[in-house]
Amino acid sequence: MALEATVQRSGGAYLAVGRVQGTWTAECRRCLEEVQGPLEASMREVFEWEPTDGETWPINDQRIDLAPAAREVAMLALPLAPLCSEECAGPIPERFPTGPAAATQGRSIDR
Ligand SMILES: [Zn+2]
Repeated sequence: MALEATVQRSGGAYLAVGRVQGTWTAECRRCLEEVQGPLEASMREVFEWEPTDGETWPINDQRIDLAPAAREVAMLALPLAPLCSEECAGPIPERFPTGPAAATQGRSIDR
């Protein structure tokens, strides 16, 4: 995971603006094969002496630690339900049909 950020002073706080880039690895939610994809997220995090829980990050010993903030940004950018491909049929397609084919088996409308 790579982080590129610029830290600016803003009043009594510091603002870190940048980008987090890397690769995510997960299991396909249908067939459980390993899936990888590019991770790219923008980051805009505030560091304060008295941080707000869950919103801003602390300044410790005159330093700010970008790593946990970058990790959180990366976590939020991960896909919630990864698929190896849009057409992934899953492990037992005849028993558990997935995808658009199942949705098109509707009734035809007679007029
Ligand atoms: Zn799959």
